[in-house]
Amino acid sequence: MSEFLTVLKEFEGKTLTPTTWGPDAVNTPMIRHWVETMGDTNPIHLDDDAARATGREGAVAPALMAQVWTMRTFVDKMANNDPSQVWTDLIATLDDAGFTSVVATDSDFEFFSELRPGDRVSLTEVVEDISEEKTTGLGVGHFVTTLKTYRNGDDEIVATQRWRTLRFRPKSADAAAEKKPASGPIPGLRPRPALNADNAFWFEAAKAHRLVIQRCASCGTLRHPTGPMCGQCRSLDWDTVDAAGRGIVYSFVVNHHPQIPGFEYPLVVATIELEEGTRLIANMTGVAPEDVEIGMPVELDWIDADPDLTLPAFRPAAREDS
Ligand SMILES: [Zn+2]
Repeated sequence: MSEFLTVLKEFEGKTLTPTTWGPDAVNTPMIRHWVETMGDTNPIHLDDDAARATGREGAVAPALMAQVWTMRTFVDKMANNDPSQVWTDLIATLDDAGFTSVVATDSDFEFFSELRPGDRVSLTEVVEDISEEKTTGLGVGHFVTTLKTYRNGDDEIVATQRWRTLRFRPKSADAAAEKKPASGPIPGLRPRPALNADNAFWFEAAKAHRLVIQRCASCGTLRHPTGPMCGQCRSLDWDTVDAAGRGIVYSFVVNHHPQIPGFEYPLVVATIELEEGTRLIANMTGVAPEDVEIGMPVELDWIDADPDLTLPAFRPAAREDS
């Protein structure tokens, strides 16, 4: 065994996450959100009678939600986001040897017992295996496998999850940045906006390719999203101004899943700050997701999604010197 592999192998068996209990017991509201999002229509997850008809005591959580119950809360993550020292040391060891890139390769779950509302779930994670050096399509690297074990309040194993990543030395920048061919939007219509007396004017203007901003008729404050009352002076009187159509990317996410008809994935969903000062959520056009940057100057474009729906979008601003 090479000296380097010996060093790596010393990490095997070390604990990354000591036993940590999920913040909430298994509960029906979270199950409902999850099955609706995933499109899981199996009645045993919400309907006690349907579950009893299958020999269970009552409704059971989807097995794959094991991970959900132990996810850290946002507040906890903000307060304490340091990875374990073992993990930090392992990654530093790999980085120092040139294995600086990472790709997740698989997540193997095994399920042993079911969870019901009221059950508590704990998680432990250890480094299970670090492979010898392997040559892959991406480059030479080591597979790192961690083992997460989910247990219930009776200390029974609910599920195990083997999470494997490849830590590799990129063959070339091109190989690392290999892009998938564009696939086009998923067939179907985009969801309709929920129109009401307070927002219909905005979507009507969009149909005419006008991006308007609501303006308080009393104090002149601009506002978006649209609404009936000025947040500054409480006036109910308003009119609109036409936006110049220039702004910057204030923030953005790249959405991969769930995939909804009418959209093309990966889907860039950006918060655009207009030069008038208001912000709006919009998709981006004419730019690959990996090229979007916070602060990027953008200009207005339009998505004529279908005869009933036109939405503003933003594309990288044309360079001023061109
Ligand atoms: Zn006002």
